[in-house]
Amino acid sequence: MSVSEKAAKGNRVDETPRLGMETMKHSVLVTRQIPGESLQRLREVCEVEVWPEAIPPSREELCRLVKGRHGLLTMLSDRIDGELMDVAGEQLCVVSNYAVGFNNIDVDAAKTRGVVVGNTPDVLTDATADLAVSLLFAASRHVLPAGNQVREGEWKTWEPTGWLGVEPSGKTLGIVGMGRIGKATAKRLVGGWGMNLLYTSRSDQGDVEKELGGRRVELDTLLAESDFVSVHVALTDETRNLIDADAIGKMKSTSVLVNTARGEIVDQDALVDALNRRAIFAAGLDVTTPEPLPADHALVKSPHCVILPHIGSATHTSRNAMSEIAVDNLIAGLAGKPLRCSVT
Ligand code: NAP
Repeated sequence: MSVSEKAAKGNRVDETPRLGMETMKHSVLVTRQIPGESLQRLREVCEVEVWPEAIPPSREELCRLVKGRHGLLTMLSDRIDGELMDVAGEQLCVVSNYAVGFNNIDVDAAKTRGVVVGNTPDVLTDATADLAVSLLFAASRHVLPAGNQVREGEWKTWEPTGWLGVEPSGKTLGIVGMGRIGKATAKRLVGGWGMNLLYTSRSDQGDVEKELGGRRVELDTLLAESDFVSVHVALTDETRNLIDADAIGKMKSTSVLVNTARGEIVDQDALVDALNRRAIFAAGLDVTTPEPLPADHALVKSPHCVILPHIGSATHTSRNAMSEIAVDNLIAGLAGKPLRCSVT
């Protein structure tokens, strides 16, 4: 059923939506507690059920919970595909993802079912770029293993040859995917550490070249010439395993790989192999496959890899702002209005 057909059947309010009494008929599922006051705003205009646990609902649980809902406010760990939308029912009209990435949602399936999809871009750009820079330094300077040496009472002395790292000043930064977060990361490292910039992008980024002096190159060139490679592409069928064994094989043995985008963009077996052989210097990952990554995984055990539990956007400022947008998107979708941030 198309969006307009849904409106005609009364599942969505019509062309002049009035929030409040109209949306009150609607029922929405929020798949995790979110920070800030915005859920209260949502409760004032519709019936809201919030999954109360920190661990996501299982697929079975999710199927049970979505039935009859008009709107879903979802997390990146919830797989929202055509099957789930069908289980929800024809009245479903909006899926509002609490993330900028929406690879967990089958957007084509949503379109064919007249379901609009929203995300939360921009407000998490600075926080995620800050984390990419943090990971770059943590991986380059052995910050976690060196700190653990202190905690574990293993710090014996100051060593001229101990914990030697690599530094970014004046070196070459390769940004894979010059979108919002890629740009913000480049700005920090070019402006702050005088790095030279290479980047990949399918679209023209003339403004970046003017502002930061970067050069758009093919991925192979970027990998071969960069001292630090930071991954920022969206996860799609085309970018899955983009950084595979072949790609890692092109990187310098002194280089550092950072990934704050999505785990599936990097072939983790190839990364483990490269780190074990010291074919690259180190890696810093905020995202992995799967999440959480088991504690006995070879990457977790590698002294050359820093792994964080997907905390790129985890600041009070970003997460509160994401809540606001996600709720605005949901309310607009229920009312048949354009979403504040739409991906469809
Ligand atoms: P964005 O502005 O949309 O940037 C993504 C970039 O990916 C685009 O500039 C696009 O560049 C490129 N891209 C898309 N499809 C591609 C393809 N098939 N092949 C090559 N390049 C492709 O998004 P953003 O706000 O910077 O966020 C980037 C990603 O970071 C998100 O998708 C999300 O997965 C991740 N993220 C992670 C965290 C975290 O907590 N770690 C937080 C926020 C975001 P062109 O179209 O010009 O090629």
